[in-house]
Amino acid sequence: MLALFIIVRYVFLDRDGVLNRKMPEGVYVGEWAQFEWLPGAVEAVARMKRAGLTVIVVSNQRGIALGRVTAMQLERLHQKMQDHLARSDARLDAIFYCPHDRGECHCRKPDTGLFEQAFKSFPQANAGNSVVIGDSLSDIQAGQRLGMKTIFIQGEPDRQKAGAEVAACLADAVAGSLLQAVEVHLGLTVPSGRAREVESS
Ligand SMILES: [Mg+2]
Ligand SMILES: [Zn+2]
Repeated sequence: MLALFIIVRYVFLDRDGVLNRKMPEGVYVGEWAQFEWLPGAVEAVARMKRAGLTVIVVSNQRGIALGRVTAMQLERLHQKMQDHLARSDARLDAIFYCPHDRGECHCRKPDTGLFEQAFKSFPQANAGNSVVIGDSLSDIQAGQRLGMKTIFIQGEPDRQKAGAEVAACLADAVAGSLLQAVEVHLGLTVPSGRAREVESS
């Protein structure tokens, strides 16, 4: 298990490359048809919810600033994600996203504004009881700025961004997938029965 020395109650997840397959650089997921869960991601969320954890997504969605995706499309997509997760008795407790372009806000990771928004909605959450799981250097940096523990998800090699090696060094732990992070580093090894059935049907 991750040498967290903390009791994890809140899990901050990046979205693209952690829950769903990342699109090639510069392409943004705007439609449900483009959204592809990564293997084990639904099961991982189900296990965290069964363990009583609060699961919060914090996601950079610059595609909105670039006009490639509308806020409405994104909201609809997130609703679809929630509907799909519900079939496995899973859900995301909240989704915070940054719609801005680089350098124009305080919320785009590695800045910490999305986390601060989340801390307002979940006043019990703090750096001492939370972990950040992401597949970008900016996820790890944001978590570390707040003093949070971090787990780096090593993505598919052809979709890995610059900085992946640095991120792997900086993070408290590295995993191949969200499910592996949840099993190995959060210790949630018991499959959630219903999620299994839904995923395999
Ligand atoms: Mg990502
Ligand atoms: Zn922003």
